[in-house]
Amino acid sequence: MSKVIVVGGGWAGCAAALAAKKAGAKSVTLLERTDMLLGTGLVGGIMRNNGRYTATEELIALGGGDLFKIADHFSRHKNVEFPGHKHASLYDVSLIEPAVRQYLLDLDIDIRLVSRVKDVDHDSQKVKAVITEAGEKISGDVFVETTGTSGPQRNCTKYGNGCAMCVYRCPTFGPRISIAARVGVKELVGKTVI
Ligand SMILES: Cc1cc2nc3c(=O)[nH]c(=O)nc-3n(C[C@H](O)[C@H](O)[C@H](O)COP(=O)(O)OP(=O)(O)OC[C@H]3O[C@@H](n4cnc5c(N)ncnc54)[C@H](O)[C@@H]3O)c2cc1C
Repeated sequence: MSKVIVVGGGWAGCAAALAAKKAGAKSVTLLERTDMLLGTGLVGGIMRNNGRYTATEELIALGGGDLFKIADHFSRHKNVEFPGHKHASLYDVSLIEPAVRQYLLDLDIDIRLVSRVKDVDHDSQKVKAVITEAGEKISGDVFVETTGTSGPQRNCTKYGNGCAMCVYRCPTFGPRISIAARVGVKELVGKTVI
């Protein structure tokens, strides 16, 4: 029975918090720096396209499809086709966040918005706590980092003023801090060849 702390409230963080709760964690705290969950999931919405249709059905059949069911429920368009995408569904980004948030709250997951983690308290053996920008120290037994990808969106710096799409990774919301790097874990960095 562990106390689980998840840092970053995008889809990955929501799924991690949910999985920890369903696996029997004593308590789960989800820390998100902005004032909404779902991160970059708030600017996308295409689901079930191509091979992901099978993956979604498989996860639902295996009992892990809670979040997919919510996405299905809030899909404005289903089974649509456009270049590169077959049988896609598109969820309504304005409706889905409150629904996911309520689902997690009903499971007694402690969601803390506007809680940016900026440091880690650890020794050579283990992480003991994370420290928020407000100076709160939040201790736990298990820590999961789901703060998204590292670095700015390439097109912003390449083409000029940026765009409205990647606000959740934009430095306006403060730079991303790699919690993993703070404890000496090297992150994998994907490289795009253009
Ligand atoms: C423009 C755009 C359109 C997309 N469209 C689609 C689509 O249609 N369909 C699809 O399937 N995928 C789409 N994607 C990809 C998809 O959105 C992402 O792969 C997915 O949302 C990533 O989820 P994540 O939880 O890993 O990361 P993120 O969504 O990046 O979540 C990370 C979260 O961590 C928070 N955070 C960061 N640092 C801290 C900190 N120090 N303390 C606390 N919180 C922190 C952030 O605020 C954020 O909420 C799109 C991506 C983009 C950029």
